[in-house]
Amino acid sequence: MGREVRRVPVNFDWPLNEVWHGFLRPDRFDETPCPDCKYGASPEAQHMQDQWYGYVPFHPAETGSTPLTPATPAVRAFAERNVSRAADYYGTGEAAIVREATRLANLWNGQWSHHLTQDDVDALVKGDRLWDLTRTWSRETGWIDADPPVHPTAAQVNEWSLHGFGHDAINRWIVIQARCEREGNRQTCATCDGHGSLEKWRCQRIRAELWEPTDPPAGDGWQLWETVSEGSPITPVFSTREGLINYLTSSHYSRGPLTYEQAAGLVDAGWAPSLIGTATGVVRGEQAMGGNN
Ligand SMILES: [Zn+2]
Repeated sequence: MGREVRRVPVNFDWPLNEVWHGFLRPDRFDETPCPDCKYGASPEAQHMQDQWYGYVPFHPAETGSTPLTPATPAVRAFAERNVSRAADYYGTGEAAIVREATRLANLWNGQWSHHLTQDDVDALVKGDRLWDLTRTWSRETGWIDADPPVHPTAAQVNEWSLHGFGHDAINRWIVIQARCEREGNRQTCATCDGHGSLEKWRCQRIRAELWEPTDPPAGDGWQLWETVSEGSPITPVFSTREGLINYLTSSHYSRGPLTYEQAAGLVDAGWAPSLIGTATGVVRGEQAMGGNN
């Protein structure tokens, strides 16, 4: 666990194990969830995203793509691999392969991400997102553009998407953005302009961005804080360094007791005279402890 010594006023009396209020963003900056969207997307873009993953119905005919079948070579190969790797689960033989291939074909036919149009693919090429198809790789040269240049077809990309990792979230975003532009739809929710939430009061958002945490006051006292949460004091304030060290070596210290060397190392770690009296007055202690507990 992270700990640090803070120099606070000797009479500083913030409750132990309670996050210093200056570290917590005030509730007044919480916005109202947008009533018209989930994550700031327009209804059209949200529907596309759901179709991308097959969360809502999709059919390959919607993009003019050829439906996959259990006999589609990439589907069949994937099914054979699955079955060979987990015969206990899938069973063995031709029936098991066909059953798994049927499941995969149905699954992938319901996901737009495997049935892109040429327009979708063009957007990905423009975004330089299809290196597996448009570039070659070698140990000597790394990734370089294919020569002559390759502009993959939708069928090639859709087959590629059945292998390996397929499309990532950036590809999804590029395809949806381009389709929204082509079809004249907003990509972001008009109600909240893509934020997913609405301001409760004027300039709330800019005020929230300007908000910064406030350190506890600085002083001559010595106190150990944990830094796993935003930051809470975990020992009383001592007026001397020795006082804090003695406390850490006693059974009063809930996470101890430490040896004298450990305690002194923690208290002294990184401490430099120039830090005394600065606004932060923080001594980072984790390293001196030789790790965390
Ligand atoms: Zn919204």
